[in-house]
Amino acid sequence: MAEVKTRLERTECLNRDSYGRIIDYLRISVTDRCNLRCIYCMPESGVPKLSHEEILTYEEILRFVRVAAGLGITKVRLTGGEPLIRKGFVDFCKRVVEIMGVGRVSLTTNGVLLAPFANQLYDAGIHRINVSLDTLKPDRFARITRRDLFHRVWNGIMEAHRCGFYPVKINVVAMKGINDDEIEDLAALTFEYPFHVRFIEFMPFSPEDKWTSHFISADEIYSRLRKLGKLLPTVSKNSNGPARYFQFLGAPGKIGIISPISHHFCATCNRLRLTADGMLRTCLFSVEEIDFKTILRTNEDDSFLAKQIIKALQNKPAKHSLNREIFKKCIGRPMVKIGG
Ligand code: SAM
Ligand code: SF4
Repeated sequence: MAEVKTRLERTECLNRDSYGRIIDYLRISVTDRCNLRCIYCMPESGVPKLSHEEILTYEEILRFVRVAAGLGITKVRLTGGEPLIRKGFVDFCKRVVEIMGVGRVSLTTNGVLLAPFANQLYDAGIHRINVSLDTLKPDRFARITRRDLFHRVWNGIMEAHRCGFYPVKINVVAMKGINDDEIEDLAALTFEYPFHVRFIEFMPFSPEDKWTSHFISADEIYSRLRKLGKLLPTVSKNSNGPARYFQFLGAPGKIGIISPISHHFCATCNRLRLTADGMLRTCLFSVEEIDFKTILRTNEDDSFLAKQIIKALQNKPAKHSLNREIFKKCIGRPMVKIGG
């Protein structure tokens, strides 16, 4: 018991950053490739692809997660690019789930390949899934994602629901003049299904983002939703993130509103992000990255790796410095390159 306590104390201490936040959540991008071209994430022609050698191997990612889990990372989210297009992904998921200390592994996907993989993913131990879907109109879906694949995504969502994934979260990037007229229809899905429909503020990542004209704030989304029915504040048992949750009276599903821009959640941020090419970002909006690919590919042992992770998380910034001026200039990589 004494030994366990010492270990727990040590763990707590190792994943606490210099502002006292416990960092226990790691988002991993397994690929920079994608089978969609969402207008807010990528140019139509795509982005220059990383070469095979530049991308971390599954073994390298697993080693990183093992060491991070030893420091107190308990939650892992797998994302991309589109994670389901990477070969061997389901087996990789199984191995992440088996890592001691990792209590929860979840997935963010665009859903295009979800229907054929849902069952296998569930059996691999992934039970929580976020699917991005910005519209219920197939023609609009084709315009937003530049691919005519709405029905594949919708079938994927239904299949995940049928397989028992809970919660199935639907991520909607709300954009004025593009899909904001569907906020109510998307929210109404929560009357029919136990889904968590989460509205996310559009974030600027690339110079083409005309964010000011399409930005719609969380407060505006909330006032629109209130007109639909009585919205009761609630919590999502499985969410430690920045979403505020609500529920319409009598609805089985929940509504999430995520406001990284208008109300930033830096004070409680518990995350690290590992990009597909092995860069660790301690803040989504920071341009600073630590090159863990090089560290993983040298002959250093796990204790060296652990020390570098601790050093990185201790330097996690207190808060992001996004302001309107920086928005206008736009920063860093697009989400497809960071891992959303
Ligand atoms: N391809 C997968 C998907 O679309 O779910 C996973 C990666 S994607 C980069 C992860 C999330 O980032 C998606 O929910 C997407 O909507 C969101 N995202 C991408 N670019 C964004 C932006 N500019 N503003 C807000 N959310 C964005
Ligand atoms: Fe692909 Fe996801 Fe980016 Fe859309 S948001 S282009 S699905 S990575």
